Amino acid sequence: MSGGVLRVLPLGGLGEIGKNMTVVEYRGRIVVVDTGLRFPTTDMLGIDLVLPDFGYLRDRAADIEGIVVTHGHEDHLGALPWVMRELDRSPPVYGGRLTMAMARSKLDEHKLRDVPLDDMRPGEELELGPFRLELVHMTHSIPDSCAVALTTELGTVLVTGDYKFDQTPVDGLPADVSRLAELGRQGVLLLCGDSTNADRSGFSPSERDVGPRLQEVFARAPGRIIVTSFASNIHRVQQVIDAAARLGRKVSLVGRSMRKNVNIGRSLGHIEFPEGALIPPQEVEDWPDEKIVVISTGSQGEPLSALRRMAHNDHRMIKLHRGDTVVFSATPIPGNERAVNETVDRLFHIGCEVITSRDAPIHASGHGYAEELKLMLNLVKPRYVMPVHGDHKRIRLHGQLADAVGIDPEDVFRGENGLPLEIDAGGARYGEPEQSGMIFVDGVDIGDPADVALRDRRMLSGDGIFIVVATVSEQSGASVVPPEVIFRGVPFVEQADSLVEEIRHEVERSLARAANDGVREIDMLQQELHDDLAAFVYDRLRRRPMVLPVVVEV
Ligand SMILES: [Zn+2]
Ligand SMILES: [Zn+2]
Repeated sequence: MSGGVLRVLPLGGLGEIGKNMTVVEYRGRIVVVDTGLRFPTTDMLGIDLVLPDFGYLRDRAADIEGIVVTHGHEDHLGALPWVMRELDRSPPVYGGRLTMAMARSKLDEHKLRDVPLDDMRPGEELELGPFRLELVHMTHSIPDSCAVALTTELGTVLVTGDYKFDQTPVDGLPADVSRLAELGRQGVLLLCGDSTNADRSGFSPSERDVGPRLQEVFARAPGRIIVTSFASNIHRVQQVIDAAARLGRKVSLVGRSMRKNVNIGRSLGHIEFPEGALIPPQEVEDWPDEKIVVISTGSQGEPLSALRRMAHNDHRMIKLHRGDTVVFSATPIPGNERAVNETVDRLFHIGCEVITSRDAPIHASGHGYAEELKLMLNLVKPRYVMPVHGDHKRIRLHGQLADAVGIDPEDVFRGENGLPLEIDAGGARYGEPEQSGMIFVDGVDIGDPADVALRDRRMLSGDGIFIVVATVSEQSGASVVPPEVIFRGVPFVEQADSLVEEIRHEVERSLARAANDGVREIDMLQQELHDDLAAFVYDRLRRRPMVLPVVVEV
């Protein structure tokens, strides 16, 4: 080992599910692994997406050698357009072919046409400043998933990306176990490993096992079959197509992202349709029910998705009816359970049969279980371990697995977003925390979580709003006509109703006090009114509606 400090700074993905982003830094140069996003929770009212706070990268844009994306899932790729927009230069982006095709399509939607994207094949090596970059082929629920090996003079950092050790993947390309073992023999300094299924014992089932189970379910369905799954799960989509073809059913694709991903997958040879198997959605009604399989987006109950629309009888082309079977070939991501349950119940209401992965083994996780995480640890034999991609519980469990295979607990770093791990010839330790957290996307604009708009939405959604219009004399500052009080969405309206008169009095009292104190400036008056009324309303209702005073001078 020679001098220098290797810094590994996770900006997202630790203590949470989503927005994965890891900064690897050596001799002042940076490689970023993944630029992921997260979907908002229900309290983030009106927020569309959540990104990692990448202010650190904005300040260091000139030092970024490249951005490497492990695979095409939103929690690894989704923030790329925003990162590119915010940095004052576009560093080159690297990843597998499908990953880069998906990145291209995303950047195009944001009209970012001159970001340099470079396909890399696993095994290919690339010098990026003080780093040597190599991708290692892995199996996951999307093709072209890779682990990222970044080698410096100090040693290799291996970021696994999302993975499972599928021995019989649908495309016949298992994870490159021998390359992982080779890296292990050469010496891996730090392993940043996927913790998603650290809480599940044993090995995950192979994706290939799902196909026959789907076919069994299809064979029992009397009418149309609607299958929903992640649009990016290209091998799953292929297995649905194959099962449909064996049963002599036509396939139709519904939902924008489904059509988009299948197109990209087809153009790269990951998906094949038997001759004449695919029909456009507008022709579904022309075929007998028992001849149809529809593959749809909406497995997570997403509000605007095709399945959710169908469940609400609001889809342009497909009207569900009794006798249809809806197959959920996916499990809800934590946080989406409610939306999924609601969709399922709607489907029952329409009279559909609903089959989920609880009823039949029609889903296989893309993330390895405990034994696979141990296998990774044993293959790679890392000097240090930093579990990533998991909530606090799974990160801790991943640490225990490392302990179980004989890694010294002192060498396992259960990190946090924003906390850099610093490794040099003398050992590994945490450095000073860096800026990290969330930024919100509202439409296409980004803002920070302390955003006033979001605070206002929370207040409005919780306790409603009072608008008070007071008209005061320019000369004396006294109220000249009875103040107007308007309220919307305030709970306990009956009580509030009787309050209106009292609020009017309170407004007049407050204005009189202000006039007495010589407060005449409109902004100041409004502030005083706000404070007095907010206190008054809280005192009477034990609620904090938004109070919006408007003072007009005459
Ligand atoms: Zn993934
Ligand atoms: Zn992921």
